Amino acid sequence: MSKSDKDGFTTGNLHNDRRDKPEHGVLHKAIHTSVAYSYDDARDLAKVFQGKMPGYNYGRQQNPTVNALQSRITRMEGGLTSTAFATGMAAVGSTLFALLRAGDHVVCSAFLFGNTNSLMNTFRNFGIEVSFVDTTNADNVNAALQDNTRLVFTETIANPVTQVADLEGIGELCKQHKLIYVVDNTMTSPWLFQPRTVHASFVVNSLTKYIGGHGNALGGMLTDTGLFDWTVFPNILDLYKQGDPAMWGSTQVRKKGLRDFGATLGPEAAHHLAVGSETLPMRMDRASQNAQQLAEFCQSHHQVKRVFFPGLSSHPQHDRAKRLFKKPGAIMSIELADDVDCFDFLNKLRCVVTSSNLGDTRTLAIPVAHTIFYEMGDERRASMGIGDNLIRLSVGIEDIEDLLADFAQALA
Ligand SMILES: *Cc1c(COP(=O)(O)O)cnc(C)c1O
Repeated sequence: MSKSDKDGFTTGNLHNDRRDKPEHGVLHKAIHTSVAYSYDDARDLAKVFQGKMPGYNYGRQQNPTVNALQSRITRMEGGLTSTAFATGMAAVGSTLFALLRAGDHVVCSAFLFGNTNSLMNTFRNFGIEVSFVDTTNADNVNAALQDNTRLVFTETIANPVTQVADLEGIGELCKQHKLIYVVDNTMTSPWLFQPRTVHASFVVNSLTKYIGGHGNALGGMLTDTGLFDWTVFPNILDLYKQGDPAMWGSTQVRKKGLRDFGATLGPEAAHHLAVGSETLPMRMDRASQNAQQLAEFCQSHHQVKRVFFPGLSSHPQHDRAKRLFKKPGAIMSIELADDVDCFDFLNKLRCVVTSSNLGDTRTLAIPVAHTIFYEMGDERRASMGIGDNLIRLSVGIEDIEDLLADFAQALA
């Protein structure tokens, strides 16, 4: 192990790009825009294509700027290898597309990010069975397992009601039944939680959110923890059963997912995301601290009916969040009192932005039932505990005094 491998999360992150001696001693990996790569010896190009020599052949599959970001996130997650995609959704979709077949069964959280939920339903049209269960208790996952179950998918903290999954219990179950365990770590980020510690096989991060952190670039990352035994997985094509078995799954995702589906992260976005990631711990700590104070303020306000935030002792999975995560995150939802009009409230906020994004430096608010969960319909929303007056907040890094004052005047 080299000296720098022992560096802390932030030190290692800041110096990661320099570790492979970049041109001119630059501190940021350059934005490489070339789509094609040349070789002096034509045989070398053939070797690269055949995977017998490391190198680049075409920008849809590899790019040096994107590779540097992959190495950075692999380090943050303590993983084996990572594959970047154009968006978080592309990372989820390409992974499932590459690893599942018709006749397979997936168990996933019933409280998934809306577009992931929608995507899971689309996979049903291709002959893949999907069971949606409450993942806050691993017993529900266990009860849903079938002979053809291949993969379990959950998020760390669900959106918008902030349920915290039984990450350890599901990890044990997946280990025991040799199932691929995918954890979407977007809400917590590798600073608050590393899914590798609960035996996840893959970690998904939407880089668009906390890792990029500034709402100025889209990106997604799939990190392979190296913990899954691919030799027992029936869907790996013979073609990719070469070399170290720990790499088989990621190789198939890169070929069948990234290469064939083509949702490639661009080098400019990779640069923005890499720069943003340098301050992840500071932003995340500050935003979590702000969220805690804002949640406590809202909980004691008579115009707020309920507050959903894992940092409150009233939260059903408060102890679990405390045990697993460095901090309870910065996503919270508030249900306004029945006689408060949620649109009037949002319009009164001065420094809080009404927006669908999350994980930005700025505090963002959105009326959930009328926007991101509108397509689901009344019934499904009701089953998920999403009322018409529910507002999701992605708390930012503003001065807390300003946030508290803004909420106080808008609720008055
Ligand atoms: C935003 C988000 C995604 C999708 O990421 P994009 O980069 O917007 O495609 C996936 N999962 C979670 C939990 C998210 O919040």
